[in-house]
Amino acid sequence: MKKWSLFLISFIALFCGCNQNQELTIEGVIEKNETEIISIHYPKTGFEKLDKEINHYISNTRTNLKQYIKENVYIEDLPELNIDYEYKVIGNRYSNIVLTTFFTSPLLAHPINEVKTFVFDQKENEFLALSDIATINTGKIKMELLRQHKDCILIENLEKAFLDFNSLKFTFTDQSIILYFNSYEIASGNCGIIKYEFPNKEFHIPIEKSAVQKTSLYKPNKKELSLTKPTIALTFDDGPSKYTKEIVKLLNEYDANATFFILGNKVENYYDTLAYVLESGNELGNHSYNHKKLTKLSSKELHNQIELTNEVVKKTLDYDIHLFRPTYGATSNSLKSNVNMEIVLWNVDTEDWKLRDSKKIYEKAIHDIKDGKIILMHDIYKSTLDALKRILPELKKQGYQIVTVSELKEIQAKRNEEN
Ligand code: ZN
Repeated sequence: MKKWSLFLISFIALFCGCNQNQELTIEGVIEKNETEIISIHYPKTGFEKLDKEINHYISNTRTNLKQYIKENVYIEDLPELNIDYEYKVIGNRYSNIVLTTFFTSPLLAHPINEVKTFVFDQKENEFLALSDIATINTGKIKMELLRQHKDCILIENLEKAFLDFNSLKFTFTDQSIILYFNSYEIASGNCGIIKYEFPNKEFHIPIEKSAVQKTSLYKPNKKELSLTKPTIALTFDDGPSKYTKEIVKLLNEYDANATFFILGNKVENYYDTLAYVLESGNELGNHSYNHKKLTKLSSKELHNQIELTNEVVKKTLDYDIHLFRPTYGATSNSLKSNVNMEIVLWNVDTEDWKLRDSKKIYEKAIHDIKDGKIILMHDIYKSTLDALKRILPELKKQGYQIVTVSELKEIQAKRNEEN
């Protein structure tokens, strides 16, 4: 895409009041070590009061996990903590945040699922309770919850939950209110987290109309591929992040392209970044929705992890994903039969997530580079960005053509045809 259309996107983003799509920073920790598997994502909103509460929740949850690990011994599988987020700004003013914690351990019969919500008025710098935003007919809601979940609702718990009306977990849109109940809060465990959305038009607070969602404007640019040059594919997992744009800028400088295996949960908050990724001729792959370890999930959960990502990419960027990279590189038969995309692993691991040292990452990447290799990196670390500043010129010096995974496959297929 031409520069002016990128300018146009920024222009629309600035003036249509699309706070919902504004790029905020998503903080992330993705780690697998000897004692635990962790994937945590949460927004850094820039509102001190709100960020403090979010950080407090995240660090509490991590402390609990550390304590749990100390007290329990594992033989095979590791405990896994996953915290995912949803972030929306309603009426250009109200931050609505949902943090969903998922914890599983071989010692637990069922994973633990928990929801935490924050509704924050940016203008007044104040958290809002349910009674601040609307008058609710609790009798009607209780009846409806009973009707929808008649197999698992525990009446006594339901009554208790509504006693302190303002302790209810909720978020809202400009048309509705959504209530969240943790497992066992109002129902038996088999119902898991209960989410109940009901229409609401009369708010106690002023709500400006939210802007219409942006539509995709990018035009992928296809470049000439050489069949004779030595060729490698660069891949980046776990993004997008605040470093992704810088990485794409660097790739552009060296006439290089890459495949970005992204997480679905960040797509809406990184619209501009992803449009830039695509318009620069790069490719997107699916790397699950929120980086859970996929081999242990039920087929419904697995389906969600895969399809939600493809759906949000299609909806937001009008782009079809064809490649899939499993989290932690772990595959299983159930995974293979559930994925309708080509599964792509790698053969050069820079270990950038562990090293966090640009010199060492550079050495790992360059060490046994050869025609046809697929290099694994992560676009969520500054050290990876710094390493690329040396890797790209070095590869170019050695005469390499740097392409996406699909382009590498295309080149390999054409070469085979010729032979
Ligand atoms: Zn990953």
